[in-house]
Amino acid sequence: MNSAQPTYYIHTFGCQSNKSDSERIAGDYQARGFTEASDWRNCDELVVNTCAIRQSAEDRAKGFLHNVLLYYKTADKPKPKIIFTGCMTHHGQKRLAEMLPIIDQILPINEVGFNNAAIRKDGKHAWIPISTGCNSFCTYCIVPYSRGREQSRPLEEIIKEVEDLVAKGYEEITLLGMNVNSWGLEKLGIGFRKLMMENKDFGREDLPDNQTQYLKPKTTPPFVKLLQAISAYEQIKVIRFLTSNPWDFHDELIEEIGRNKKIDRYIHLPIQSGSNAVLYRMNRGYTKERYLEVVNKLRKIDPEIVIGTDIIVGFADETEEEFQETVELAKQIDWKVGFVAMYSPRPGTASWRIYPDTIPHKEKKRRWLILDEIINRKNLSVRPKVV
Ligand code: SF4
Repeated sequence: MNSAQPTYYIHTFGCQSNKSDSERIAGDYQARGFTEASDWRNCDELVVNTCAIRQSAEDRAKGFLHNVLLYYKTADKPKPKIIFTGCMTHHGQKRLAEMLPIIDQILPINEVGFNNAAIRKDGKHAWIPISTGCNSFCTYCIVPYSRGREQSRPLEEIIKEVEDLVAKGYEEITLLGMNVNSWGLEKLGIGFRKLMMENKDFGREDLPDNQTQYLKPKTTPPFVKLLQAISAYEQIKVIRFLTSNPWDFHDELIEEIGRNKKIDRYIHLPIQSGSNAVLYRMNRGYTKERYLEVVNKLRKIDPEIVIGTDIIVGFADETEEEFQETVELAKQIDWKVGFVAMYSPRPGTASWRIYPDTIPHKEKKRRWLILDEIINRKNLSVRPKVV
C-alpha cells in the first residue's frame, strides 16, 4: 500500500509478554513515522509476533501466514513486507526461510528491547516488562532458547515508565517477566546452555537445577523493593505480576503481599505437576511440598488471596499414578484458575532430547478434561480477573 504515511499492522499470538512486546514494536513504528493500519490487508509492513509454547500455537501462526499468502495471490495490490518475530524465531533464519518463504525479515524477540515507548490501547491498565529472557531451564520450555538469557530492566527505567503512566492517568499495572521473582537477583547461570549448544549427550542428572541459577538474596529481595517503590505512587491502585515461580517465592515477598493491599489478591503460581517425580523430570526446582508451603503461607497471611496455576498433562511418560497426584493436589489446593495444557515436545528442548513422548493424544485429552473439570468448570462464577 502506497499511502502518504507508511502503515504497519501487528498480529500477535500468545502470552502477555508477546502483547507487551507488540506495544513496544508499535512504539518503534510510530517513532519512525508509520501509522497503524486497521487491517492486515491494508498495510505496508505486517509484523507477525508468534508463540511457540506448543505445536498448536506454531500451527496457528503458520495458518495465519497461509491466509495472507492466499489473499495476496489474488489481491490487486502488492504484498506488505512481512516481519516475523516472537518465540518461533528460535527455529533460526535458515529453517524459517524453508518453512515460511513468505517471510521477508526476522526480528529476534530479544532485540525488541525496552527502549521504545509502548503504544497502549487501554487507558487505565498497563503492562510493564521488568525483565526479558529466562535463566531457568525447565526441560520442556522453549523460552530460554527463543528469548535468551534473563536480563533485568534497570530500576530507574521502570520507575520512569511508571511516572509517565501516572501522568497519563493509569491506575493499574501488571509487571511482566518470565520469572518476576528473580528480578534484580545476581545470576549464576551454570553451564546449561553450553551443554545444549555443544550437542552433547546428557541425561536429566546432568542438568543444573533451576534454583541454583540465582544467588539467594541476603536482604530484602530486589523484586520486593520494586513493588514497594511502585506502591509509593498514590495514583497506582492495583499492582499485578506475572509469572512467579515457586522456587524463589521468598518469605519477604509473601509478607509484602500480606501488608501491601495494592498488590492484587490473585496470585498466579504455576505448579505444572503435582508429582515430585514429574517435577524432577521437568527440572522445576521445587517439590509439591515446597509449593504447598508457599500456598499455605499466602493463605495464612491473607485468607482473601486467590491462587491460580498452570499445569501440563501427559508430560514425558507421566504415569496414571503421577497424574492422580496432580488430581489429588488440585482437590486439596482448590485453585480458582488453571491453565491446563497437553504436553507438546518442542524441538531443541531438553525434554525433547531426553524423554520419549509416550502418552497418546487421546489420553492427554482425557487427563486435560479431568483437571479442567476439577479446577475451572466449578469456578466459572468466581473466576478472578487475570490480565
Ligand atoms: S521458568 Fe521455566 S517455564 Fe518459565 S520461561 Fe523459564 S524455563 Fe520456561
